Amino acid sequence: MADIVVVGSLNVDLVVRSPRFPKPGETIRGDDLATIPGGKGANQAVAAARLGGQVAMLGCVGADAFGSMLIENLKQNHVDTRRVLRDGSAATGTAIIVVDANGENSIILSPGANGKIKKGDIEPAVLQGARVLLLQFEIPMEAVVHAARLAKERRVKVIVNPAPAHDMPDELLKCADYLLPNETELALLTGKDTKDKASLEAAAQLLVKRGAKNVIVTLGARGALITTRLSKKYVPTYKVKPVDTTGAGDAFIGGLAFALVRRQSLQDAVQYGCACGALATTKFGAQPSLPTADEVRKLMRSA
Ligand code: ADP
Repeated sequence: MADIVVVGSLNVDLVVRSPRFPKPGETIRGDDLATIPGGKGANQAVAAARLGGQVAMLGCVGADAFGSMLIENLKQNHVDTRRVLRDGSAATGTAIIVVDANGENSIILSPGANGKIKKGDIEPAVLQGARVLLLQFEIPMEAVVHAARLAKERRVKVIVNPAPAHDMPDELLKCADYLLPNETELALLTGKDTKDKASLEAAAQLLVKRGAKNVIVTLGARGALITTRLSKKYVPTYKVKPVDTTGAGDAFIGGLAFALVRRQSLQDAVQYGCACGALATTKFGAQPSLPTADEVRKLMRSA
């Protein structure tokens, strides 16, 4: 039985490298197409499963070939897919990504079937035996809030990753045992500047005042900040040689969830998340860069 449940998005990332971005009306030649499983929900599910977590995913894909590919990919990563729905009326969620010669990317996200998840699709039984529920904002907000509410009623801990940043109802903030924005998302959620330490801490505290129990802001190479009503604590990350930071946030969250269900303290779990995030920056891509428990152990030992 799964102790970590993810209710969230599954996307296929279609990535083409190109010398530059095309102008309107222009056609230019790019490299070969890479077709890569993604979506924040699926990435976080795979992150926790690769570490050895028992993970189940609830999401929605289309009745198309990409949908089958995404389900197969989760299965190969030992994620329980029995609650991944298929909607014949929509295409599987797709991100069309162009990467230019400088490594900059431009992305068009077509949510497709992710947008079809309704409240009624999230049955309480999905949380049976779960200790942690992981949520992001790539599916309809009413489904996110409903899942959080069900988890709260069942004393399942709720981790909310407010990404991509989006206004969130206070009810959801109050359900969040752990709210995990990065700096950009924190600024967008609070409408505050987060550039210096004092304003960053004040913005995190604002979300605590609005109802989140623990706010954990991920700070890239500077690690993470844990804020509660009565305390704040910076947790440093590990020194690595980053080649691609895509997926660092998802690796961190999967690691945090995994460590929390192993009953680690919050500070230890954040430290574990930092190691996962750091390792994810040392390889290209999102899912291919997610670390195993052995890799995390080695990094933490060597520090
Ligand atoms: P996101 O990918 O959502 O923007 P961050 O960039 O904050 O999130 O990264 C998530 C976590 O990954 C950080 O809290 C940190 O622990 C780790 N991390 C990210 N970038 C680096 C880096 N350059 N060096 C070491 N750790 C990193």
